[in-house]
Amino acid sequence: MGKRRVEKAIKIATKAHEGQKRKSGDDYIVHPLAVMKILEDWKMDEDTVIAGVLHDTVEDTSLTLDEIKNEFGESVAFLVDGVTKLGKVREGMKDIDTYLPQTKDNLLRLLVATGADIRVLIIKLADRLHNLRTLSALTADKQKKIAKESLEVFAPLADRLNMGRLRVEMSDIAFSYVNPKRYEELKNLIDERNRSAEKTLAKIEAEVRELLDSEGIKFEMNGRIKSVYSLHRKLAKYNQNIDAIYDLTAMRVIVDDITTCYLVLGLIHSLYTPVSGRIKDYIAVPKQNGYQSIHTTVITKEKKIIEFQIRTKEMHEYAEHGLAASFYYNEQKLTESYRTGKIQHLPTNLLWITELQQAAAQLREGKKVNLDKLKLNLFADKIFIYTPKGDIVDLPNGALPLDFAYRLHSEIGGHVTGVKINGKMSNLNTKLKNGDIVEILTSKTQTAKPSWFEKIFTPHARNKLKQQLGSKSDVIPKMTPPKPKK
Ligand code: MN
Repeated sequence: MGKRRVEKAIKIATKAHEGQKRKSGDDYIVHPLAVMKILEDWKMDEDTVIAGVLHDTVEDTSLTLDEIKNEFGESVAFLVDGVTKLGKVREGMKDIDTYLPQTKDNLLRLLVATGADIRVLIIKLADRLHNLRTLSALTADKQKKIAKESLEVFAPLADRLNMGRLRVEMSDIAFSYVNPKRYEELKNLIDERNRSAEKTLAKIEAEVRELLDSEGIKFEMNGRIKSVYSLHRKLAKYNQNIDAIYDLTAMRVIVDDITTCYLVLGLIHSLYTPVSGRIKDYIAVPKQNGYQSIHTTVITKEKKIIEFQIRTKEMHEYAEHGLAASFYYNEQKLTESYRTGKIQHLPTNLLWITELQQAAAQLREGKKVNLDKLKLNLFADKIFIYTPKGDIVDLPNGALPLDFAYRLHSEIGGHVTGVKINGKMSNLNTKLKNGDIVEILTSKTQTAKPSWFEKIFTPHARNKLKQQLGSKSDVIPKMTPPKPKK
């Protein structure tokens, strides 16, 4: 029955798009079918897959929403309508440079109005992913525009939803169009490092395998390679010093349960020397987007530095597919009751979605909603700031130049002498605006001053400044890993 519904959708969409071509010369239907395939890979529910097949029909063909409702039901029609509206409003904002600064508010309002169902966003993300994969067919101008928007809006969105695999693919493709030279450079650098590390990695893997096997632990192990774009961002943070980046390659150990994660951590530490201060327990304290894993950096017997990431299968699946994975795990019925806001089975750190849905429900009932009061952890309270080289840093709205400096690196933050905003010398009290290009001026002889507390907005910069001024009050205690059983 299910298969037949999807097949019917394909038939209807194929007929509706008949004669239409993509810029690449392909028949248009290639695109919705690719979007369908992506949604299937993400293991989305059937209504979402069908809406993916039909997502461009109402906008671009003579098919109507009513016809879709009659054939496939309310839920599919609702999803297609949401994607259509999302597209329309964005198209209305022609110039991306004037559109972006307002994006967060406009897009948010739209999401609230149409995206009561987070699946609309997931279809939009699949749509964008395929458009990025086929970006080469467009003009250079359009390529840059779409790539830039993907880096600023869609990849962060994927990250908020903890869709790690999507975030990596999107940002790497987009970055290759935004800054092709840099992309090539870093890609080669990564390949080269990986080639030279191959032997060492194989040896480390064999050692760890032997140890875990001898303890009777069931596990999977593989290497993970850092993506180009995240390396690019990290290099900006570490003054372009690649030797300061310890997680260029990491080994992933995937086990059955949480207890075994800690056991493996202990075993790895009995084999290699852990680097102090580099043990991160995201299982006990998950990242904001729900990401869970234990990270530890160790020094091997041959003095090689390598990061291990230890997690359960569920955590792994969730890190790769994020919100989409939770649809899969919670099975069909969930989506309907979830869509209508009857349940809140989402991870607590994704409660902003629930908040968004409730606001949308109120709007639909004609009630007034104060959007500014919503603490939507999306882009609502974020601004995007550029370095002169074009790197993007997102900061909370209200951030000041010192917040930006400390975000780049505490070494930069600690030596600030002044700031240029959009090329003009400015005061350190100046509130940054979305899209500002900010250049921090530093001097080795300049040191952090207590008076800077008044020129700081973010807790992150405040803590760094405190540390630099020698106050120990906010230092997080180091965690000690459990001792391995022998
Ligand atoms: Mn499309």
